[in-house]
Amino acid sequence: MTEKNGRVFSGARPTGRQHLGNYLGAIQNYVALQENYESIYCIVDIHALTTVEATKDLKLNTREMALDWLAAGLDPKKSIIFVQSHVPEVMELHTILSMVTPLGKLTALPTFKEKVRQNPNNVNYGLVGYPVLMTADIVLYKATTVPVGVDQFPHIEFAREVVRSFNFRYSTDVLLEPQGKATKIPKVLGTDGEHKMSKSLNNHIELAATPEETEKRVMQMVTDPQRQRLSDPGDPDVCNVFTLHKIFSSTTEVEEINAACRKAEIGCVDCKRRFAKSLNNNLQTFRERRAKFDTRDGYVRDVLADGAKRAQAIAAETMAEVRAAIGLYEV
Ligand code: SF4
Repeated sequence: MTEKNGRVFSGARPTGRQHLGNYLGAIQNYVALQENYESIYCIVDIHALTTVEATKDLKLNTREMALDWLAAGLDPKKSIIFVQSHVPEVMELHTILSMVTPLGKLTALPTFKEKVRQNPNNVNYGLVGYPVLMTADIVLYKATTVPVGVDQFPHIEFAREVVRSFNFRYSTDVLLEPQGKATKIPKVLGTDGEHKMSKSLNNHIELAATPEETEKRVMQMVTDPQRQRLSDPGDPDVCNVFTLHKIFSSTTEVEEINAACRKAEIGCVDCKRRFAKSLNNNLQTFRERRAKFDTRDGYVRDVLADGAKRAQAIAAETMAEVRAAIGLYEV
């Protein structure tokens, strides 16, 4: 452990190019945490297999996601960035932890029931064990801290219970109980102004889109639904464009739009054009870094390979302690 506040672990499925929702909901927090925590960020490709049956895009999605993370400011000198399947010890720990996890507890979890509802034709064994693999991800790297939204605290409590069961059964304290770090995760609405931004709903704005593509997407955004004509005063408080203006535009511009919208002195088309401009300005550095990393031969691969090496060193240590605690025969 370094002199930092502890060790953070967080993982995300390889969903390819990231969008504004991913950035505001997770990536910008990852970037901030790496300053004060020893940070480990993992692209959890094995988790993805529980619901993704067609894997032809998995490799590309993994690379694209890593590229976006790096372009957004995750620094391989400050964080360990790697792919879950590159450290196979997690599968071993998952199996071991599954022996101390009651099946009834797993099938009773609301998240399991929700997954069954979403994938009624693919209720596989991996889906049941998902929270155990998630626990293995965290404890394999002896993470002390997991950034989570308030609604995800039960996941951390579950992981803590599994750890306690293991430590109790084998009279040991080798596995650490992680703590959840309450993180404000904003709900970022998509261009439809109604649902959470998501690729599957095609209401997303990709970070890596060109300025022209970004503007096109922004122009499709739904605004205050009550505002029918230019002469109608609008209500910025119910407008998703305004919500995002507040994040990406200057305070002066936000104040000006707020007042002008309420007095019908600005039209939504003009307002969206201004938002697209602010967003593109904000994303310029990201895009430049992305292009640079993308064309630097083998850069992403090397970062992920180095991350896996560093993660594996921690994993090997933990597994040696776990095997010893259980009393497995060693040669
Ligand atoms: Fe939303 Fe801007 Fe239209 Fe007002 S002027 S409703 S803030 S898009």
